[in-house]
Amino acid sequence: MICLGIESSAHTFGENGDILDNERSIYKPPLGKGIIPLDAAKFHELNSKVVFNLALKKSQLQMKDIDLISYTAGAGLPPCLRVGANFALDLTKKYGKLVVPVCHQLAHLEIGKLTTKSEDPIYVYLSGGNTQIIAYAEGRYRVFGETQDIPVGNCLDVVARKMNLPMPGGWEIEKLARAGKYLDLPYVIKGMDLSFAGIQTAAIRLIEDGSSKEDVAFSLQETCFAMLAEVTERALAHTGKKEVLLVGGVAANKRLQKMMKEMCLERGAKFFVVPEEYSGDQGAMIGWTGLLAYKSGWKPDFKDKINPKWRIDQVEVTWI
Ligand code: AMP
Ligand code: MG
Repeated sequence: MICLGIESSAHTFGENGDILDNERSIYKPPLGKGIIPLDAAKFHELNSKVVFNLALKKSQLQMKDIDLISYTAGAGLPPCLRVGANFALDLTKKYGKLVVPVCHQLAHLEIGKLTTKSEDPIYVYLSGGNTQIIAYAEGRYRVFGETQDIPVGNCLDVVARKMNLPMPGGWEIEKLARAGKYLDLPYVIKGMDLSFAGIQTAAIRLIEDGSSKEDVAFSLQETCFAMLAEVTERALAHTGKKEVLLVGGVAANKRLQKMMKEMCLERGAKFFVVPEEYSGDQGAMIGWTGLLAYKSGWKPDFKDKINPKWRIDQVEVTWI
């Protein structure tokens, strides 16, 4: 079966055909600003046709070759989600195809598992919109720990913006951090949950007080990533699982990968990280998850075409 996956939950409009191709166009907010949802939606609307045509061309497919269309129904920014949902539903009507709404967060995990061949890991899902430590248990992906306020990617992005760096901020922070030394920042873990809002405020204050960008970048990474490694280690201990898989845009960070890998080595767990092409938002993850869901007979339990606040633990997983 061949599935066309359509992603448009936030900054990226992406499409693919069964990882025959993985096209995307990415909305970049104005310098110094975060995503403006209506502007991002407008951008996706303008680019959707181009991305769609490129995906078909590069994968050498025509619509008659495609069996299934899946799209991100949530979680995400409602105006952006609506663009992808409408695009998918228009195509299904026009060409008489089957359609599957996909949970974005779940798709990040499934593409990670597919591309790394990990089996039953602790998923460390870190992106611009999410920070969750997740594991599969009894028919659902369960959240063992998560941020109580802002996601770690957002924390990095906001501090980067304060330093007048372009987006994605996490990547810029990573480059600066190589030349930095440690300054004190709050380290905030509450049970299995984490908090990044206070760290973000403290990092911004350091910049305003004249600390070097390099030192703030280094300290921010060391603090946030040590917290994440600690909670992940505890999730391994609680669940007895033997693998860790890093997914989401922040997974591309080499310092984070090193810290997680060292923690896994000490515990005798295997460490995996999703390839960079599949770490940020893309259509391939939506296509693959759409196939898994459809083939296992999965049915959505919501009526609307989008579900902006969809949580991963609300999805009954029928394909494991
Ligand atoms: P996503 O929401 O999954 O598309 O991921 C986007 C997030 O990943 C943004 O917050 C970026 O700043 C972050 N990101 C991208 N590359 C890196 C990196 N090398 N280190 C840390 N964060 C990164
Ligand atoms: Mg994402």
